[in-house]
Amino acid sequence: MEGRKLVTGWAARDASGILSPYSFHLMRKTGKEDVLIKVLYCGMDHTDLHHMRNEILSTRYPLVLVHEVVGEVGEQGSEGTKFKVGDIVGVGCFIIGSCGECSLCQSGMEQYCQSRIFTYNHDTNKDGMPTRGGFSSAMVVHQKFVVKIPGKLAPEQVAPLLCAGVTAYSPLRQFMGSGKGLIKAGILGLGGVGHLGVIIAKAMGHHVTVISSSESKREETLEHLGADAFLVSSDADEMRRAMGTLDYILDTVPAPHTLQAYLPQLKVDAKLIVVGAAPKPLQFEANGLILGKKTITGSFIGSMEEMQELLDFWAEKGLESKVEVVKLDYVNKAFERMERNDVKFRFVVDACGWQQPPLNSSSRSLH
Ligand code: NAP
Ligand code: ZN
Repeated sequence: MEGRKLVTGWAARDASGILSPYSFHLMRKTGKEDVLIKVLYCGMDHTDLHHMRNEILSTRYPLVLVHEVVGEVGEQGSEGTKFKVGDIVGVGCFIIGSCGECSLCQSGMEQYCQSRIFTYNHDTNKDGMPTRGGFSSAMVVHQKFVVKIPGKLAPEQVAPLLCAGVTAYSPLRQFMGSGKGLIKAGILGLGGVGHLGVIIAKAMGHHVTVISSSESKREETLEHLGADAFLVSSDADEMRRAMGTLDYILDTVPAPHTLQAYLPQLKVDAKLIVVGAAPKPLQFEANGLILGKKTITGSFIGSMEEMQELLDFWAEKGLESKVEVVKLDYVNKAFERMERNDVKFRFVVDACGWQQPPLNSSSRSLH
């Protein structure tokens, strides 16, 4: 394995999605422009559930999940310039790459580059194994795909920004300085991405309406997340009153749903921005778009520049995510709770103890 470090982590072995301890060699040793990162905190994203269940793309097991990773630089490659040992840094959905040469890479849209390599479950043709994510004691990442965490931010708070946060920030940023007056935002689905969408949209000065399936989230959303209005999607009267009021809706729902239900709440010429990766087709009627010149569009995470910009924006505005920090041995329970929509609003795993993982624990049980 020529110098590649043996690390310990947790992996899903099959689509049942139960994680258990797993040791493996890092994909490569620390290259000239790489950093070796000791993992400290990891956010848990619904995309992890989709991958674990083999619902999107094609999953290869053992699967080492997660791509919202905060860690400490443990080694810097010989030509590394961006960081120093001991820096607190973040890694999102890419670890090695994008080609750096295509028009997308050149215009700050490297997340759409066809040569992109995702942080986990991505074949690199290097050692016959897919990439592996942050549920690991360490990772090797090209410095280009690492961001600096501003000193005043708490690392566990910041982890969800590295995927969920930038997923909301990137499409919402287009409305900043658009000169359209008060922007009326809609956030559909109040989980990890959705709650960060509310916080970011408010910090951008938008008027924010949450559309949720859960009445139980109303009070917290209005009182603690700062949203201006809250609609329960099954309440026909509430939904009718909101018709034609929104400039955009950020749709974060991870399950099949009909888009048609949310088009009437958009103003003429407004946008439904789909970021939730529902594993089945979403439906709408052509007239729902035509008669109001409405647009349905998608958006995929954000660029590295946007990720750093979000972290700086977050620090400058003094924002705070709402996370539930759990220990490593709680991850199976946490995924089970995420699946039944029982988290306000993001699990973050305290991975500081992963340097000595409980390799003998009976962690294949759910509890
Ligand atoms: P999450 O924390 O589980 O939140 C999803 C929210 O959607 C729930 O809190 C719930 O909010 C609502 N929901 C409505 N129907 C649901 C159902 N049947 N099952 C579960 N939730 C339901 O998920 P997340 O981490 O925010 O991710 C949301 C989606 O975005 C996932 O599909 C994920 O893969 C995708 N994603 C995409 C990108 C991208 O780049 N485009 C990046 C990150 C994540 P209410 O209770 O308010 O209804
Ligand atoms: Zn490219």
